[in-house]
Amino acid sequence: MSDYWSKLVHTLDPYVPGEQPKISNLIKLNTNENPYGPSPKVLHALKAESTDKLRLYPDPGSDKLKQAIADYYNVKPKQIFVGNGSDEVLAHSFQALLKHDKPILYPDITYSFYPVYCGLYQIDYETIPLSKSFGINVDDYRKPNGGIIFPNPNAPTGVGLALDSIKQLIENNPDSVVVIDEAYIDFGGNTAITLVDQYPNLLVVQTLSKSRSLAGLRVGFAIGNTQLIEGLERVKNSFNSYPVDFFAAAGAIAAFEDESYFQQTLKKIINTRDKLTADLKNLGFEVLPSQANFVFTRHPDKDAATISQGLREQDIIVRHFNKERIDQFLRITVGTDKECEALISALTSQQL
Ligand SMILES: *Cc1c(COP(=O)(O)O)cnc(C)c1O
Repeated sequence: MSDYWSKLVHTLDPYVPGEQPKISNLIKLNTNENPYGPSPKVLHALKAESTDKLRLYPDPGSDKLKQAIADYYNVKPKQIFVGNGSDEVLAHSFQALLKHDKPILYPDITYSFYPVYCGLYQIDYETIPLSKSFGINVDDYRKPNGGIIFPNPNAPTGVGLALDSIKQLIENNPDSVVVIDEAYIDFGGNTAITLVDQYPNLLVVQTLSKSRSLAGLRVGFAIGNTQLIEGLERVKNSFNSYPVDFFAAAGAIAAFEDESYFQQTLKKIINTRDKLTADLKNLGFEVLPSQANFVFTRHPDKDAATISQGLREQDIIVRHFNKERIDQFLRITVGTDKECEALISALTSQQL
């Protein structure tokens, strides 16, 4: 606390990211990173950027990257916004598209960065409870609002929402922007990017951090109607002209160009997720149906915080949220087969 702080800073309750421990040899299943490295073509592209050209500023418009994403998703470059990770893209979306007179709506259990952006940008919000089975019921979002946002599949539950329901939600709310945060969509959902030409109030946000193994490079993007994108560009150009550096742009372009590597890693992760789910169920855990690269699980008789602590003593880190409704759940990132086997074996041998 300091008297030098602005009034706003005194009110902030910042996001706390999952731990990035400095010790090696840990089995790190707490932040939904990809257990496989990026495509070798990405690493090659990054090396090629390491030249004297770094004395120059990068392209403020990120034109080449936008073109690569446009080609991949069959949309126009003007329908694309790019940023320093999707967290930055989301932040600009709150300020540019979700800050209106009425409160915005999002689920009670969801990405915990949303309330933080509301605090930073002074946006009112109302949370809408998920169903008993942790699903989103789009009819619950039929009320006056300044915008709607949620991840699909949702985080930290992993539960997906069908495209038909998303269409219904958008049609029920023609005067609001609906932001779908698709951080995990590649692991099993259907993207709403196919709907952006149909609905001028739909913004789809994605990241290269999870399915494309590039959390450390920081690239995220949004796809939507050109007017929504123009609003985001106005905020971005009032904040930082160069959020995507030479390395980030080149690495991201190369990632989109290596489809076969992408498909291979996705397939491995989905197979491991299915195996991990079955193994946890064998140990008596309840596991929510996941379309993501993590599972959300609880044991009927064992305390989640105790299990998490016990795993940590075995050098395995998972994520526990000390929050109403989900404090008996653990969110476990799908690692390699070997990492998931070590987790199951620790749960079994330590009787956690
Ligand atoms: C990981 C995650 C993001 C942020 O990803 P970036 O690394 O900032 O691109 C956004 N939304 C959800 C729901 C996430 O889990």
